[in-house]
Amino acid sequence: MLAECGRTKVLCTVGVQDSVPNWMYNRHNGGWLTAEYSMLPNAGQPRKPRDGRTGRPLDGRTQEIQRLVGRALRCAIDLTMLPECTLWVDCDVLQADGGTRTTAINGAVVALYDALLYMEEQKQLPKWPLRGMVAAISVGLVNGEPLIDLDYQEDSSADADLNVICASNGKLIEVQGAAEKQPFALEQFQQMIALGQKACVQVDELQRKALGL
Ligand code: UDP
Repeated sequence: MLAECGRTKVLCTVGVQDSVPNWMYNRHNGGWLTAEYSMLPNAGQPRKPRDGRTGRPLDGRTQEIQRLVGRALRCAIDLTMLPECTLWVDCDVLQADGGTRTTAINGAVVALYDALLYMEEQKQLPKWPLRGMVAAISVGLVNGEPLIDLDYQEDSSADADLNVICASNGKLIEVQGAAEKQPFALEQFQQMIALGQKACVQVDELQRKALGL
C-alpha cells in the first residue's frame, strides 16, 4: 500500500510471521503486532544514512515513530482474536515532506486490513479482529493559527507541533505534541485536537474508499 499525503509518500506493508515474541509464550492467547519505520536515504534533505550503516543503534526519532505506529495499530485490533503469529508492519518513507509518521499510520491500517482479509480467506482467523480503523493527522500552530497536515516548511516554522491519532468513532488514541518555540495555552491545545479529530474523520473516509468499503 503506497500512502501519499501531499509530497510525502510511505510504502506500508504487513507480513505475517508464524510465531510470537519470546515474552508472549504461555502468557497470552493470540498474536502480536509490531512496526518498523525507516526513511530511504534521499527521502529528505540532507541525505540520511541507511539504518544500521553508521555502526550506531537506531536513532531516537526512528524508535519513537515505529513504537507510535505499533501502539496505534494495536489499539485497533483485538490481539486475542489472532492465531499465534506476529503481524509485522513495515513503513518505508520514499519521500518526506512532513507528516511521515501520520501517513505511515494511515497507510499501515489499510495494509493491515488487507493482510487480515488474506488471513480470513486462509481460515486463520477465529473472528474478525479489527475493531475499526485508525486515522492520524499532524496539526501545528503557524503564526498563531492552527493548521492541519503540515509540510516540511510549515512544520519547521510552527510554534507547536502535534500528531493526533483517532479511532473510527472519533475517540483519541494518542496525541503527541510539543511547543517547538512558544509555549501554548490549553485552549489552543484543545482547538488543535478538535481540528485534528475533524480531519481524522476525512482520513477515515479515504481509507474506507481505498479498501472499497
Ligand atoms: N526530515 C528529514 N530527515 C530526517 C528527519 C526529518 O528530511 O532525518 C524532514 C521530513 O520532511 C519530515 C519532517 O522533517 O517529514 C518532519 O519530521 P518530524 O520528525 O517532525 O516527523 P514527521 O512530521 O515526518 O512525522
